[in-house]
Amino acid sequence: MKSVYERVKARDPDQPEFHQAVEEVLDSLGPVIEDNPEFMDVVKGMVEPERVIQFRIPWYDDDGNLHVNRGFRVQFNSAIGPYKGGLRFHPSVNLSILKFLGFEQVFKNSLTGLPMGGGKGGSDFDPKGKSDSEVMRFCQSFMSELWRHIGADLDVPAGDIGVGGREIGYLFGMYRKLANEFTGVLTGKGLPYGGSLIRPEATGYGLVYFAREMLATKDKSFDGATVAISGSGNVAQFACEKVLDLGGKPVTMSDSSGYIYDEAGIDRDKLAWIMDLKNNRRGRIKEYSENFDGVDFTESKPEPNLNQLWATNVDVALPCATQNEVNGDEAKMLVDSGVMAVAEGANMPCTPEAVEVFLENGVLFAPGKASNAGGVATSGLEMSQNSLRMSWSRDEVDQKLEGIMVNIHKNAYNTADRYGMPGNYVAGANIAGFLKVAEATMAQGIL
Ligand code: NDP
Repeated sequence: MKSVYERVKARDPDQPEFHQAVEEVLDSLGPVIEDNPEFMDVVKGMVEPERVIQFRIPWYDDDGNLHVNRGFRVQFNSAIGPYKGGLRFHPSVNLSILKFLGFEQVFKNSLTGLPMGGGKGGSDFDPKGKSDSEVMRFCQSFMSELWRHIGADLDVPAGDIGVGGREIGYLFGMYRKLANEFTGVLTGKGLPYGGSLIRPEATGYGLVYFAREMLATKDKSFDGATVAISGSGNVAQFACEKVLDLGGKPVTMSDSSGYIYDEAGIDRDKLAWIMDLKNNRRGRIKEYSENFDGVDFTESKPEPNLNQLWATNVDVALPCATQNEVNGDEAKMLVDSGVMAVAEGANMPCTPEAVEVFLENGVLFAPGKASNAGGVATSGLEMSQNSLRMSWSRDEVDQKLEGIMVNIHKNAYNTADRYGMPGNYVAGANIAGFLKVAEATMAQGIL
């Protein structure tokens, strides 16, 4: 296993996020390879994407200036279904980040129990501060290349950071025009053109369903629990809503400029205000502290400063912003303030050191590939509805989502138990996700 990791590092030495994601999975797979030595060849293949596409995206801003961004699609693994995974538009996007996200997606999609392979894509374009028409021109240019590489039975992208309903709409429109067909080639679509009810809510709701199951193993619940949430985008907003549904009290939210701490709790009215701020006015979270009394705003500071959001005294922490936002020292701050559970809403928000701190201190810890799988699961349900040419009700989709999250929890929990690591959801999720892909790969032959 060590030699596989060393080879990955030597081949692409400038891809630290990808190395991190691979190392974490390989660390868990030892006992599986002991039982099934033939799976070693599967592992060797799985760390290399099946295909990587990189392309140029020229677009003009409102003042007539040309910009040239870079676009990517990483088609990582299609052993159990068409490639499936989001598109991220953020200035930090590069191949290392997209390969880490695509690799994680393979295991996550397998865990949902639905027939979806793994992929990820995006661009270093920054939608912040751009007009709607600039975003539209960018999306059209992006899709003018991507469309030839995707398809309802081939690769079905969705949203991620910086790609919400607006962007999916522009991307879908361009695909439809170029391909001259109306198919479920993207998920996260608007309701009038093939979207699914509950898809916007799914990742955040699913995260809280998973955390609820995890808490229940220790006879705990969200009722009366204080909760720290980071981020204030799609995942954070709906995690906050579901925490409120279950009787919890969210006290923090953040964006890249800093975080707010509201001791009285972010209630439904305040959450509606945040949703309007972020989704319609596209403002900064600092404005929350200017609008509501008794709220502190703390500006974010670059490393090595610690993010004091994680020093907040809470029962549950839900990091929902971005990768590597909780390091080992920040994890210790959470442990010192008595946190009992941490569930990742974002992808890989906790560094390996942070995860170790949680596990060593008996904190319940849910890795994103299990706890944030509700988004892609509901995307899978959107694909089914598109193929069936029908749409299910809000309650039907929510019930299916809840059932999937309960199953993912059970699968990760039982698998960890079976391999002698009770309560270790990291190992449980990695092994359970791997087994299905490994069996499918062996059955189809190494390709
Ligand atoms: P959004 O773009 O809606 O929101 C992202 C939030 O995180 C914003 O508040 C943003 O602040 C903050 N953020 C982004 N980058 C940074 C950074 N470098 N430093 C600090 N804050 C940052 O994205 P989503 O909510 O969709 O995604 C959040 C996370 O969840 C990502 O890791 C994503 O991969 C993961 N995820 C999302 C799914 C989905 O269905 N949307 C599914 C599964 C996982 P600002 O506006 O200032 O940038």
